[in-house]
Amino acid sequence: MDYEAFFAGELDTLREDGRYRTFAELERKAGAFPHASHHTADGVSDVTVWCSNDYLGMGQHPVVLEAMHATLDKCGAGAGGTRNISGTTHAHVELERELADLHGKDAALLFTSGYVSNWAALSTLAAKLPDCVVMSDALNHASMIEGIRHSRAECQRFTHNSPEDLDRRLAAVAPGRAKLVAFESVYSMDGDIAPIAEILNVCEAHGALSYIDEVHAVGLYGPRGGGIAEREGLMDRIDVIEGTLGKAFGVMGGYIAASDALVDFVRSFASGFIFTTALPPALAAGAAASIRHLKTSQAERTRHQERVAYVRRRLDAIGIPTMDNPSHIIPVMVGDAKKCKMISDWLLDNHGIYVQPINYPTVPVGTERLRITPSPVHSDGDIDRLVTALSDIWSQCALSRRAMAA
Ligand SMILES: *Cc1c(COP(=O)(O)O)cnc(C)c1O
Repeated sequence: MDYEAFFAGELDTLREDGRYRTFAELERKAGAFPHASHHTADGVSDVTVWCSNDYLGMGQHPVVLEAMHATLDKCGAGAGGTRNISGTTHAHVELERELADLHGKDAALLFTSGYVSNWAALSTLAAKLPDCVVMSDALNHASMIEGIRHSRAECQRFTHNSPEDLDRRLAAVAPGRAKLVAFESVYSMDGDIAPIAEILNVCEAHGALSYIDEVHAVGLYGPRGGGIAEREGLMDRIDVIEGTLGKAFGVMGGYIAASDALVDFVRSFASGFIFTTALPPALAAGAAASIRHLKTSQAERTRHQERVAYVRRRLDAIGIPTMDNPSHIIPVMVGDAKKCKMISDWLLDNHGIYVQPINYPTVPVGTERLRITPSPVHSDGDIDRLVTALSDIWSQCALSRRAMAA
């Protein structure tokens, strides 16, 4: 077999479909974010990043950087082993305590990423619970889908954000089977929010274990940054809360928070937890500092919400079509893969504005978009430049606008 020709052929198909992924090579500048350098074959230029998941700019916050510097100097670079074999450091244990406290749970367990936490926890729970059937929201993230698939348990996709469909499906499951319901709070592409209380009512009525991914909400919502479930006073009714340390907390890593027994069970059986080197202690210390800061400081969350509302108002005023939602994610709808990529390239080349195009298969065909994520560190000037540039390209390409706001 000609392996090289096979690889090249598959890549050509992606290119023809407009689905080939290209990277923007950025050099983030601590203290200057969302401004960064962009490296290309033609040299280096300045860009403003408008699509980062470092939602609050915590990746450059002094308390995070100080904790990381101090721990790096004190403890060195790597953890030096898996959690079981010399890799459990004081920083890991303290971070897990911080996370358990954040979510009001007995315990928490760290993983090397949010992806791994979903994959490992869901695959372990669904594989080991007796005759388990998993109910998975139709728009769940790839990390959950892959974890469930790996478990080989029966999986049913319930209609997105529909407690009614979930209820019908759970009612049809034979009594005595274990049931696991997996869903998210904030869905990252549409920015919509799950009806968590209603989903929990259904879980409780059928004796199902509830598992929520709060990756796009932790740090951002709730009086202590515990997520949407904290804001709505629902954390104690959820069996497993999963989150990331890589988005609003600005560092890296993932976790689950749950009861002592459930966490100890996953710790004891999950291959994706056991057989991999622990996060560097400096990362753990940086994440703990970020969480601790956001437990008491409202400044970042308040400013974040204000910036999001302001960007929305400005885009509405010039009729740029956005998808309405109650979260911090602003999807600017383009509806065509090639146009979406072209607009993104044009913004980058002509205005130093970086917004990655979001195309199929991440979102359905016909709903291609620019996903804009304002942060507390985007200035009025940054917003003016974004709005002016979008207005220009919308006029140049005769893209449709929606009815102008008054
Ligand atoms: C990004 C993401 C993850 C994975 O988290 P990482 O820490 O980036 O690996 C999990 N779930 C959802 C919904 C995500 O968007």
